[in-house]
Formats: sequence, structure tokens, C-alpha cells
Amino acid sequence: MNLILLGAPGAGKGTQAEIISKKFDIQHISTGEILRDEIKKKSKLGEKAIKFVESGKLVPDEIIIEIIKKIIGSRAKNGFLMDGFPRNLKQAKMFLKVLDQLGIKLDRVINIIVDNNEVIERLSTRRTCSVCNNVFSVDSDEDNTECPKCRSKSIKRKDDDPEVIEHRLEVYEKESRPLTDFYTGEGLLVNIDGSGNEKEITERILKFL
Ligand code: AMP
Repeated sequence: MNLILLGAPGAGKGTQAEIISKKFDIQHISTGEILRDEIKKKSKLGEKAIKFVESGKLVPDEIIIEIIKKIIGSRAKNGFLMDGFPRNLKQAKMFLKVLDQLGIKLDRVINIIVDNNEVIERLSTRRTCSVCNNVFSVDSDEDNTECPKCRSKSIKRKDDDPEVIEHRLEVYEKESRPLTDFYTGEGLLVNIDGSGNEKEITERILKFL
């Protein structure tokens, strides 16, 4: 099964992608996660990407397209779930072309819808474990919170700072929102209410899979 998850930053794509990809044993591909790993490793790709990622801008399409071509051609044999890709129409059109060349069909595009105020609240209290990458939320905006899973130190992503969040939401509206019309036109889009707890949202998604 080949899926794309769409939604604003903080809509819960990462959490749902983990759950759904495990359930169907398909590969979870998060371009944001790949870029953050490259930045951590200080690789050439990471060095090119860091200024875009930390300021909430989109990384240039050419860089993203190369990453995706490599992964789709080599690793995603059993199907995939894209999280954070495509982010604009150019990427979406290129992706359809690449899939077509490989004889791969997209099954569904799931669009998780969450109110902007809720997104801002979720992102400003979001923390990521520096060791196991667990993503969780904290009650107040304090630093140095322990990961509830492995007790290691957690970090706040630089792009979850309030000014950057605002910019990411603007980028989402301008660049990524048009994807919903594009995939509606392809007959692939399903809209999911992203309010409520993780389990409720997963159940809503599963009804379409
Ligand atoms: P995410 O983890 O999906 O919120 O992505 C974090 C950041 O990585 C984004 O704000 C962008 O700077 C960059 N990024 C992730 N995916 C893409 C993509 N498909 N195209 C361009 N930039 C991306």
C-alpha cells in the first residue's frame, strides 16, 4: 500500500505515520526526519539544508527530489507512507512521474485537518528525545524535560520556536495547501478530522484503508 499524509505542521502526521506504517508494515518516509538526521551528522546534504530547516523555509525541490528518488528506487519495496512530502505542486507532479516510471500506484492521500490555534499550542509544547527520537508534549514551555520512554534529555526543535512556527504555517498555506485540490482532482484525497486523541484519529484514518 502506498500512502501520502498531508496536514499542517503539528497536525499529527508523524505520530499517525508511525502507527499506520507499523500496522501495514510499510516504510515510513519522513523527509523532515531525513533532513534532521543529515544536519545532526553534519553531512554535505545537512549543511545545505540547515538554514532552510531552522528558519522554517522549504528546502529546495532539487535536494528533496534526489532524496526521494534514492529511497523509492531502493528501499520502499513493501509500500510506503510519505510524511512531509510532497510539500508543493512541483514535488507532487514530479513524484507522480517517478512513480509512473516505476509502475507504482498511489492508493490514498490522507489530509489531517487541525485548527491553527491547536497547531500552535501543540508545536510550542512539543519535545523530541535526543536519543530515541520519541516525540511528546510537555505541560509548560520548560527546557530539559526527560523523555517519558527512555529518560534521556529531550530537545525543542529550533523550528518549533514561536516566530518560526508562524512562518511555517504561512509556508504551509501558500505552498502545501494547494496539494489538497491537486489530489482531489486525482481522486485520491480523504479528509480526516485531526482533533481528539491519537487513537481516535487513527481509527478515523483506518476507515479509509
Ligand atoms: P517536518 O518535519 O516535515 O515538519 O519538516 C521540517 C522541515 O524540513 C521543514 O520546515 C522544511 O524546512 C524541511 N522539509 C521537510 N520536508 C520537506 C519537503 N518535502 N520539501 C522541502 N522542505 C522540506
